Amino acid sequence: MMSYQTLPAKLYEKVSPEPVSAPAMVIFNHALVQELDLQERSIDEWVRILSGNQPYPGQTPFSMAYAGHQYGRFTMLGDGRAHVIAEITKNQQTYDLQLKGSGNTPFSRGGDGRAVLGPMLREYIISEAMHALQVSTTRSIGVVSTGEVVYRDTPLPGGVLGRVAESHIRVGTFQYAAISGEEGLLQQLADYSIQRHYPELENRNDKYRTFLQAVIERQAKLIAKWMSIGFVHGVMNTDNMAISGQTIDYGPCAFIDTYKPDAVFSSIDRNGRYAYNQQPNIALWNLTRFAETLLSLLDKNSDVAIKKAEEDLASFSTIYINEYYYLMGQKLGFANLDVQHRVVVDRLLDIMHVEQLDYTACFTALTNKKDPSTSSDYLEWLELYQSLIGKQSGDPLVLMRQVNPIVIPRNQVVQEALDRAEGGDTDLFMSILHDVQHPFVTPSEIRLLERSESNEPFITYCGT
Ligand code: AMP
Ligand code: MG
Repeated sequence: MMSYQTLPAKLYEKVSPEPVSAPAMVIFNHALVQELDLQERSIDEWVRILSGNQPYPGQTPFSMAYAGHQYGRFTMLGDGRAHVIAEITKNQQTYDLQLKGSGNTPFSRGGDGRAVLGPMLREYIISEAMHALQVSTTRSIGVVSTGEVVYRDTPLPGGVLGRVAESHIRVGTFQYAAISGEEGLLQQLADYSIQRHYPELENRNDKYRTFLQAVIERQAKLIAKWMSIGFVHGVMNTDNMAISGQTIDYGPCAFIDTYKPDAVFSSIDRNGRYAYNQQPNIALWNLTRFAETLLSLLDKNSDVAIKKAEEDLASFSTIYINEYYYLMGQKLGFANLDVQHRVVVDRLLDIMHVEQLDYTACFTALTNKKDPSTSSDYLEWLELYQSLIGKQSGDPLVLMRQVNPIVIPRNQVVQEALDRAEGGDTDLFMSILHDVQHPFVTPSEIRLLERSESNEPFITYCGT
C-alpha cells in the first residue's frame, strides 16, 4: 500500500466530505465492487459512504492540490469539489476511490463544492462505455442523489459520483509541485508516481527520462484509441490529463456521429482548441508542459535537459501515428499494415467527410458486409479495399467484429436519459447503460441508440 498521504502535506489537504440531507442511490456498480474485492457492505452503507455522510472505514479523506493550464491559461486549482475517501490496493495496484460533488474544500475558490445529478450520471455512463470499448479509463462505482438543490442557471438536483482511478496525479500536479518552491517536492512526486504507475522503471539510472518517455507513450496510445472510436474529450486541460494514462474527468465529452474532423461539442470551447482532430496536438502540448516540469531531473545542465526532453517529445507523433493506423487498420480487418493500407484508411475518412457519413455506423455497415454509401468514390474505394483484403488469409470480419462497436453512447439519447433520470425516471438510463456496456453485441434496444433523425449539431453544456 502506498498512500498519497506519505507525500509532503503541501500536495493535499486532509478534509472530509460535507454530509448531505437526503442521499439515495441512483446507480451502483456491483460488478466493479466485486472486481476490486471490496468488502461486502449493504446498499444503505454504500449510500452513506458515497454521499459523504459516513467515512470510509479505516481511511483518512483528502483533497489534492494541483495547478493547470485551462484553455491555455495557467491557474492554481486543486480538488474544489472532490475528496479521495479511500485508497484501495488490489494485486499490488493502488486505486483511489474519489467522490466528486462532495462539498467544499480549501481549493473550492468560491465554488459551491457541489455537482448536478445529470452530469454525474453522464460521467458514470460514458466512463463505463469507454471501459467496455477497451479504453484505459477511470471507472464509476456509483452515483447518489443528494436530496439537495444545486444552483446553476436554474435550480437543479444535486448528485455525487464515486469513481475509481489508478490515481488522480495529473500533469497539473507536477506543474503545482514544480512551482511550489518546496525543495525536493517535484522529485518526491516523480518518485512516487514511478513507484505507483511505472514500477518497472524504478531501478533504472535514467529513470526520470524513461518516466517521461513512458508517460508520452501511454498518452500517445490513449489518444490514438480515442480517435479510433470517435471520442472527443472536450476539456483537455493539463489538470485533466492523468500521469497513469487513464482517461479522466468526463465533462462535455461526446462521440462524433457524422464524421467531421473539426467537431467540437463543448459550449465553452469557442475556438475549437479541443476539437476532435486537435486532440493529438493538444496532448503533445500538455506533455510539453509536463516535460518542462521534469527538466531539473533530466539533467543538471539545462541545455542538455532541454535537448533530452525535445527528443522524447519528438517521439510522440511516431508512436501516435503507428498506433492510430494500427487501430484503424483493425477496424477494416487488416492483419498487417503498410503504406497502402494507410492510404485506404485515409481515403475512407475523406469519403465519410465529404458524404457526411456517420463514423461508427460506417464501420458497423462494413462489418456487416453492407455498403455505407453508393457513390462512385465509395465504389472505387471498395474495389481497392477488397483487393487488399483479398491478399490476406483468414476472415477479416472476425477482427472487425471485435473492434467495431455497434453501440456507442449517442449524444441525444444519453441527454434524454439524463433529463428523465433527473426527473426521477431512470428506466431509459438503465437500458442505455446496459447497451453501452455490451458494445460489440447486438442489444435488444439498438434502435434507441441508432442515429437520431435530426441533423442539428449537438452541444454538450458544461453546466456541472
Ligand atoms: P473540472 O472542469 O471538473 O475539471 O474542474 C476544474 C476545477 O474547478 C477543479 O479544480 C474543480 O475542483 C473546480 N470546480 C469545478 N466545479 C466546482 C464547484 N462547483 N465548486 C468548487 N470547485 C469546482
Ligand atoms: Mg478536472
